[in-house]
Amino acid sequence: MFKHIVIIGNSAAGIAAAEAVRSKNKEIKLTIITQEDYCGYYRYFLPEMLDNSIAEKDLIFKQKDFYQQSKINLILNRKVEKINVKRKQIFLQDKTKIDYDSVIITSGRTMKPPKGLKGANKNGVVSIDNIVQLKQIKKLIHCCQTVCILGANFAGSKIPVFLSKLGLDVKLFVSPDDFLSVILEQKGRDFFKEYSQRNGFELISPADVVEIFGDSDIKAVKLDSGKVIGCSMLIIDKYYQPNTKFICDTVLETQNGIVVDEFLRTNVVGLFAAGNVAYNKAEWNCFWPESFAQGTAAGLNALAYVSQDADFQQYKGFPGVMNFSFLGLPGCCIGEINTSDINGSEELVSINSDGFTYKRIILKDDFVQGVVGIGKGIDLEVFSELILKKIKVTEFKNNLLSENVSCLLYSNAIGL
Ligand SMILES: Cc1cc2nc3c(=O)[nH]c(=O)nc-3n(C[C@H](O)[C@H](O)[C@H](O)COP(=O)(O)OP(=O)(O)OC[C@H]3O[C@@H](n4cnc5c(N)ncnc54)[C@H](O)[C@@H]3O)c2cc1C
Repeated sequence: MFKHIVIIGNSAAGIAAAEAVRSKNKEIKLTIITQEDYCGYYRYFLPEMLDNSIAEKDLIFKQKDFYQQSKINLILNRKVEKINVKRKQIFLQDKTKIDYDSVIITSGRTMKPPKGLKGANKNGVVSIDNIVQLKQIKKLIHCCQTVCILGANFAGSKIPVFLSKLGLDVKLFVSPDDFLSVILEQKGRDFFKEYSQRNGFELISPADVVEIFGDSDIKAVKLDSGKVIGCSMLIIDKYYQPNTKFICDTVLETQNGIVVDEFLRTNVVGLFAAGNVAYNKAEWNCFWPESFAQGTAAGLNALAYVSQDADFQQYKGFPGVMNFSFLGLPGCCIGEINTSDINGSEELVSINSDGFTYKRIILKDDFVQGVVGIGKGIDLEVFSELILKKIKVTEFKNNLLSENVSCLLYSNAIGL
């Protein structure tokens, strides 16, 4: 009898885990369960569906034939309700019972407003976690004039541009711990406030929503400044919580996610977790490529576990580039960009308001720690080398913001 690996979740981490298992073993029984009724799709492109820049069919990156050819039993539209780790059984919402030898949990995170946020259950208070929610927003938008967005993380940094293109009055409320605040410093924040106005939406920072007014439908929001703003939709892009309800009866350790070690192992033997639902003390990021890389390691390690192979693959974090779209501009960052995590850091910033280019370099003791580039791309090759090879930049620090940084560094003969 073949062993059975079950993956809960069919997105970046889950699909990467399945591919990793199949790359080493073509026969083992492999099942993916998802509560969504869709094959694998690029979750990060959901905002692009708002103004039809991307059609639904182009969002799907794994068609049904991928699962068939890879001999993956795909269970769509079924929610996992419970796991019995002693009996090694998974229970679905419709009471189906699935036996397993190893489980990889990749159930991600979704927005759950805090209990203290009054009015969060009103119609028109939404989030963009999946295709179904996105489609609902598209339907509602036709009756809206003003849309408020709370939080500027992945979704909140993208959607204002799409919504203002549709002729809506858009207001974006940004808190200090949002992604947008972390990747920019003060000059950048001021620049992008002005940039927002020029692009037809308003960026209000720092600001938080403390109450939502209306009868059954949202009518207005109250900010922490006391200001009340009328609106017919509030899109929330913060308050993300790991999807772990189905493990609440288990002994699985949680702490802002399912706790895993560097091999993606939980505290229950044979159970692994990866992607946004997993928590490691190194505080891994919630990016698509990082979830994918964790899924790969978890898949290989689940296979090693069921094959009784001691060769577990260590996940060392994701040093790679993170691409994102920022208020309608392409952006990317590498390395450590949160200066509150770096003692004694120094920053170099350049802003070109004509070409909408923003570059921020974070240094410590003249070593580059991280780089953010928005608008025109940054020279990733050069900065990756400077970070990874730990090259001291004292002699050419003043040239780092230059557009032709690679030529200048060559002339400094540092071997790039
Ligand atoms: C709007 C938006 C924009 C983004 N933009 C970017 C970007 O520009 N760059 C970037 O790097 N990242 C971006 N991200 C983040 C990126 O999409 C996530 O990091 C990635 O999707 C995480 O993958 P995951 O596999 O861990 O979880 P998820 O993608 O959240 O998938 C979770 C899976 O688990 C399933 N599931 C959950 N609970 C259950 C259950 N009880 N039973 C059965 N199935 C269940 C879900 O159906 C789903 O298949 C964005 C995310 C969003 C929402």
